[in-house]
Amino acid sequence: MHVPYENLPGSVRMVEVAPRDGWQNLAEFIATPTKISLIKELAACGFTEIEVTSFVNPKAIPQLEDAAEVLAGFEPRPGLLRSALVPNRRGLEAALATSVDKLVFFISATETHNHRNLGCSRAASLAEIKEMRALIPAEKSCRVSLSNVFGCPYEGDVGYDAVSSMVESLVQAGISEITLCDTLGVAVPDQVYLYAAGLRESLPEIDFGLHLHDSCGRALACVMAGLQAGIDRFDTAAGGLGGCPFAPGAAGNLATEDLVSCLERMGIATGIEVSRLLACARRQADLVGARPSRMLAFTAGCEAAE
Ligand code: MG
Repeated sequence: MHVPYENLPGSVRMVEVAPRDGWQNLAEFIATPTKISLIKELAACGFTEIEVTSFVNPKAIPQLEDAAEVLAGFEPRPGLLRSALVPNRRGLEAALATSVDKLVFFISATETHNHRNLGCSRAASLAEIKEMRALIPAEKSCRVSLSNVFGCPYEGDVGYDAVSSMVESLVQAGISEITLCDTLGVAVPDQVYLYAAGLRESLPEIDFGLHLHDSCGRALACVMAGLQAGIDRFDTAAGGLGGCPFAPGAAGNLATEDLVSCLERMGIATGIEVSRLLACARRQADLVGARPSRMLAFTAGCEAAE
């Protein structure tokens, strides 16, 4: 019998993005000490990387205006990368004045979304990424999150060739770690497989990851397709928080607890302690007033039934 899941990786790298991608959409400001304590609790679950904040214009995203204070309250620790999103040179300068470990740049696979999200053309963003890459000191690292890889709210379908050519430009700009983002949550598994396998085959030296949104309930299926294509790094948000202010209709990120519990039962190590993560996601839901993810609601229901 052919078992389609027999060649999956034995372990994956989980990147927790709730503090950046989840919280940025919340209307009510989360007090800085609350943010720091939640991030520390997430770190205790076993993550090796957490996107802790973003150095964007505070007028655009006031929720994350305390980026420097958050990093100051959560000092470096061995085995954990504290990454932060950086949209431009000004953001990079602010980030480099802190103890941040890793910088995350972003660019869109489509021209219209890049203009809406970053206020400039893709060519201008690429040039800026190249400049920023050159300014990062040796002890810090970076990656690029490439948004709208699998579909765009403004331009619709995004073909493989457009994605592949953008990825090649990023590699030429000195980037060796790239996350393929389904910003809108419209990807389907065969598309994820084809894009991921194609890119990995043509650029085997590049570290590719996936960032999936669960808008249409397909994110876990797309993870399985990504695993089959050899992807072993995933962005997820505790509690399934998130969306994109410039991608109308985008639902939350794939919930970390959904993915971790699924992979662990499949024998794929995540390094994350599920019970601790659930407790942390529950506390986050209480503190920020967000709706609980499906799994949080399900496990709470099981406990009530005992
Ligand atoms: Mg997201």
